[in-house]
Amino acid sequence: MKIKLADSYGFCFGVKRAIRLAEGAPNAIVIGELIHNRREIERLEKNFGVRLTNNIDEIAKSDAAIIRTHGVEKEAKAKLLATAGAIIDATCPYVTKPQKIAEAMSAEGYQVVIFGDRTHPEVKGVLSYADKNAAVAANPADLEDIDLADRIALISQTTKSIASFNEVAVALIAKTKELRVFNTICNATYDNQEATRELAKEVDIMVIIGGKNSSNTKQLYAIAAELCADSFLVEDAVELRREWFKNKSLCGVSAGASTPDWIIEEALKTIEAF
Ligand code: SF4
Repeated sequence: MKIKLADSYGFCFGVKRAIRLAEGAPNAIVIGELIHNRREIERLEKNFGVRLTNNIDEIAKSDAAIIRTHGVEKEAKAKLLATAGAIIDATCPYVTKPQKIAEAMSAEGYQVVIFGDRTHPEVKGVLSYADKNAAVAANPADLEDIDLADRIALISQTTKSIASFNEVAVALIAKTKELRVFNTICNATYDNQEATRELAKEVDIMVIIGGKNSSNTKQLYAIAAELCADSFLVEDAVELRREWFKNKSLCGVSAGASTPDWIIEEALKTIEAF
């Protein structure tokens, strides 16, 4: 069996930047998970003393606080500015952008609609920059439950697929008088998705490596599973199963934007050994 890697996979610019910032701030406290990869977070805890909290009230003047790649809500950031000794803002610039758009469009009187998962920290953060009438839709059907205004600004969660974003945009055109569409899907996500799509078409087994709580990893898996029936999502080499690879001739491999190279290499070695 041969193994083929996707043309674009793994760590994105935003995650690399966040890890670099965390490595340069030993013993700092991260608000929420810095990136959606448990193993990499464990490495940062072990080697750099980086700690994690979900409670901003725990931050004291003596602490340096790291804001995760997905950002935090506007109120949380204001609170951190007032309480933390220092702030290391690892919010990915691709996430800061929709936050700014949400704020600016609200100020211009547009109702902000975010295409995304309402429970995702990035979406909660972006929502906090918009006016109260802002809403979140995970698909066109969700629009039915929203009291839509005549002027709407549509923004996407950075890790969504462009095809699904298009569906929401098309559905909105019929439901409002004026629609402004901001494509805030980040290039890293898009490139990884397209490369996975191409690879999944030609292989007979596809392995996606990444955190099971990572939105972009889950998107890669969904794309792969559509085109290759034998697609598997694993967090690391330990989850790989020898029997998956029996009678297969070409194995495609891709990885989410928060999957470090060392986890990918471990998985590749295990597949090679099978
Ligand atoms: S996937 Fe995109 S938005 Fe998310 S951290 Fe990476 S570069 Fe930033």
